[in-house]
Amino acid sequence: MSIKSTILGFPRMGSDRQLKKLVEGFWAGKSTEQELVEGSKKLRADHWALQKAHGLSEVPVGDFSYYDHVLDAAFAVGVIPDRYKQLDTAGTQAYFAMARGLQDKSIGVDVPSLEMKKWFDTNYHYMVPEIADDQKFVLHSTKVIDEFNEAKALGYAARPVVLGPVSLLALSKTAKGSSSKPLDHLADLIPVYVQLLSQLAAAGAEWVQLDEPVLALDLDAAVYKPAFEQAYGEFAKIAGLKYLLTSYFDRLGDNLELAAALPVHGIHLDLVRGVADLDKALEVVPQEKVISAGLINGRNIWKANLEKQLAILNKIVGARKSVWVNSSCSLLHSPHSLRPEAGHLDDETLGWLSFAEEKVEEVATLAAVVSNPDSVKAKLEANAAKVASRKQSERITRPQVQQRLAALDRSSYNRKAEFTQRQQLQRASLKLPMFPTTTIGSFPQTAEVRKARAQFRKGTLSKAEYQEFLDSETRKCIEWQDQVGLDVLVHGEFERTDMVEFFGEHLEGFVFTKKGWVQSYGSRCVKPPVIYGDVSRPHAMTVDVARFAQSCSANKPVKGMLTGPVTILQWSFVRDDQPRSQTAGQIALAIRDEVVDLEKAGIKVIQVDEPAIREGLPLRKADYDAYLKWSVDVFRLATTGVNNETQIHTHFCYSDFNEIFTAIKSLDADVITIENSKSDLKLLGALEVHGYSAEIGPGLYDIHSPRVPSIEEMAARFAALQKYIPAENLWANPDCGLKTRGWPEVKQSLTNLVAVAADARTNYAARKASA
Ligand code: GLN
Ligand code: ZN
Repeated sequence: MSIKSTILGFPRMGSDRQLKKLVEGFWAGKSTEQELVEGSKKLRADHWALQKAHGLSEVPVGDFSYYDHVLDAAFAVGVIPDRYKQLDTAGTQAYFAMARGLQDKSIGVDVPSLEMKKWFDTNYHYMVPEIADDQKFVLHSTKVIDEFNEAKALGYAARPVVLGPVSLLALSKTAKGSSSKPLDHLADLIPVYVQLLSQLAAAGAEWVQLDEPVLALDLDAAVYKPAFEQAYGEFAKIAGLKYLLTSYFDRLGDNLELAAALPVHGIHLDLVRGVADLDKALEVVPQEKVISAGLINGRNIWKANLEKQLAILNKIVGARKSVWVNSSCSLLHSPHSLRPEAGHLDDETLGWLSFAEEKVEEVATLAAVVSNPDSVKAKLEANAAKVASRKQSERITRPQVQQRLAALDRSSYNRKAEFTQRQQLQRASLKLPMFPTTTIGSFPQTAEVRKARAQFRKGTLSKAEYQEFLDSETRKCIEWQDQVGLDVLVHGEFERTDMVEFFGEHLEGFVFTKKGWVQSYGSRCVKPPVIYGDVSRPHAMTVDVARFAQSCSANKPVKGMLTGPVTILQWSFVRDDQPRSQTAGQIALAIRDEVVDLEKAGIKVIQVDEPAIREGLPLRKADYDAYLKWSVDVFRLATTGVNNETQIHTHFCYSDFNEIFTAIKSLDADVITIENSKSDLKLLGALEVHGYSAEIGPGLYDIHSPRVPSIEEMAARFAALQKYIPAENLWANPDCGLKTRGWPEVKQSLTNLVAVAADARTNYAARKASA
């Protein structure tokens, strides 16, 4: 029986986000490319040393990236669109231009970046490669070979990690002006992979990890089975190299037999998300192949229950000759180490958590139980004690919260009257004009706003002074909206850094780490809150702000602004000791109480944002319905406690709506505003197919760009929308919050937007009169 301990990948940023500093310093011209190269080399060496020190028998290499591993994979095989070829493709210039665009007048260059997309169902984003009809592939970069040599020179047993060719193409898109599907190019790509793999073999690699995460998705077997067989059939001919085929984030399911039959030497199983695969895998994966047991969760932050995972491991060990203990997926999605949290988090909470460094140790411990059980007895006991402490802690369970959720009946999920009836009552109460105008919530977070917040946090600004500053910003913001002629106003969200963090800080059941950063895209990291226990609301969170904001306008409604339960859940690290739906239900109750309190305080319009509802969709279609059912339920739980006259708004981003349109309808919101300015056609198509009868404000312009939209272009879009949406249900608004914009553009853009609505009213009245 042979056992190996390893992980699929390690976070790249460093214990103190060193990589962020390195690349941003280089982009800003503050450091040289040489410094970036050397600094990165040191980071890799540190990360390998850490893995070895904790007892891993083999380290992954090539998991490091300056920006993104999909971009690296595309770059390595020469998938560099023509617009970047004018740049230096040998060093980092073209690479970073593909990552983030390049605008440099001095050299006459102005190229946008590649498109960015979410990496499966994580909060990591990858750059989408573009494949042209006449695509040529060449071995363009030897990054992974260089990193293998680097590790080898330092004395590590190293395993190169390569994104597999089928996934690389499946994650790519067809270049503009081309029509072939990326996967049509597989036959041309394979020889370049063969070249790369042969060079790795020549450099002395024994195993190569080929990541094919698309195997966790619903695949059309008629297309993908031959694709996998063709590629891996060729790889099998390379002498002296063994392949670990990996996939993660969900079960292999109906792709398991395909994976098991490929001529590779090992199959990785995500035994956290895909433990359902195990029994069948033990049957169908041939005996001579290694099973890599992904037992340690790479994407959540809880200490593993080693006893439980050991039971699974033992089942595999009993049935196979060669087993690896592994992380479920790359640790890329975990923060670096718990060390900085000591002294920041209380000891009890600290004992429940495990970040990348601690996960490495968990992997090594599990493997040691098989090879040398006496050596880890104490570690297993300590783990069992922490796991028990989390089960028993009184801080985790709040019986009232549990009981309240369990006792709800369907009436808590329904408004008192149907939409059409509510609409009449709201019209009578709000007296809004046709085509009401509004914004999505936030206004520019200017340097002054950030400075005041920083001063308040440092203590150089008192609480009262800070409050006074916020009030004055809010008042100015409301007065400006009032004066420019917007109809439903917002307070501007100056008190919030982040729409999830703000609520987490006010709710029970959340903790915030000091350095729990994870990479979101490129050098950008996020620090998700940790939901450890039952969630409840000890006090109102937004009522004072809303009441003050409403007092700043004599006769226009100011919206109450809240974040919805699904978005709070989706952008946090969530407890794993109860179903996500239950945690979401608890958050929903807290939001429900806030909604009711806002209504009591005289707020007539309340917006509950759910920008993350779409991204929470499971990877497999068979799981969609269950997810959509509970996510709709918790939204309704949060929003249906009010009277018919109160208008509930919601907001969505990234609108690939078709798949979830039915669910959106059943949210039963009175008004939805959606980001659509990049995908008009898709949205209109969905409206046509599914019909929509409540009020709706498709974004009239893209807030992600500093450009001011003209009256003409917004008017044209607005007119097009009126063909699909009854005029009396249509709102005029930007497509998302204005937090990242500057005041001058915002003022000009919204002035134009108000003019568009005013013209539309005049035109509509004229049409009515002549009809
Ligand atoms: N109300 C939030 C804002 O305006 C919504 C942000 C979002 O949709 N991501 O900033
Ligand atoms: Zn948005």
